[in-house]
Amino acid sequence: MFVRLLPCSFHRIPKSDDLPDSQPLTSFVVRGAQGAGPLAIDAGSLGLVGEAEDMARVREVLLTHAHIDHVATLPMWIEAVLSKDRAPVKVHATAPTIQALREHFFNNVIFPNFEQLTEADGRALMEFVEVPVEKAFEIAGFHVQGFNVEHPVPTTGYYVTDGQDGVIFAADSGPTERLWEVVATAPNVRAVVLETSFPDWMDHIAMSAGHLTPNLLKRELEKAPEGLRILVAHLKPAYRAEILRSIDLLEDRRIQFIEPGAEVEL
Ligand SMILES: [Zn+2]
Ligand SMILES: [Zn+2]
Repeated sequence: MFVRLLPCSFHRIPKSDDLPDSQPLTSFVVRGAQGAGPLAIDAGSLGLVGEAEDMARVREVLLTHAHIDHVATLPMWIEAVLSKDRAPVKVHATAPTIQALREHFFNNVIFPNFEQLTEADGRALMEFVEVPVEKAFEIAGFHVQGFNVEHPVPTTGYYVTDGQDGVIFAADSGPTERLWEVVATAPNVRAVVLETSFPDWMDHIAMSAGHLTPNLLKRELEKAPEGLRILVAHLKPAYRAEILRSIDLLEDRRIQFIEPGAEVEL
């Protein structure tokens, strides 16, 4: 099973340090055994990666929540996929996320309402597909289960498995118990993708906004089983170096930073 954090920023040339590249927008692409995937989790930068053909290789997207850093480039991705076959582009998300996107994004103001735009034969350009929470479903050859996490808007983490291996995308979330219950019961979980958005001195903001700091990450890891890989992403670019230093000081061997662009094999 492979997980890739999609890049979204220009490379610093030459790289001024050995830190992972800045990553203000979030999208992952997961591929599994027996042809499962590619499945995109979130579309922060999905519509920025490469030429239209590159973007169109991903045919399914599953959203964790409606915040702009996770949906910003949905329109560009949808346009890249549109004419590749005769089926409408499908965007999978929970009901509250779909409602937020209809009201605030595809509302004929910020962007055209692609659900109402049809071809001459009446075929819609885009469909939202509602996914359940706490109930299994299938998408792009993967078995998936969503669960609620702690964030100011309705936000869903996902356990994604190809039947052999599994990975959990915890999305944006402050401290959570439900995530670790899912880890304890989901078979073959190889890794959990966690966020660490703010440095420790911003813990008040982190807690109010439903995010983690390195200290809060440490407390989450006390709930994690030995041997589980923790893939850290979603570092706010302005505090990236500081967050990385603090996480290094935790000296927890389970932690690995995801480099934008690289594919991690689980
Ligand atoms: Zn968020
Ligand atoms: Zn976010």
